[in-house]
Amino acid sequence: MVRIIEPTSKFIKVRCPKCKNEQMIFGKASTPVRCLVCSKVLAEPTGGKAKIKSRILEVLE
Ligand SMILES: [Zn+2]
Repeated sequence: MVRIIEPTSKFIKVRCPKCKNEQMIFGKASTPVRCLVCSKVLAEPTGGKAKIKSRILEVLE
């Protein structure tokens, strides 16, 4: 599942599809965000929007 998130300053809680690690990522990522455990890319920057390549558990205001 790939979801495009609009540019936002929100933090998004995601779960790594590979190792199930949960971590917080920034919705407006400018660099690829990797899982801290297995280094799988969880989100990629696409011109201001973060392409989330992992399961979104929660969006924090
Ligand atoms: Zn992982």
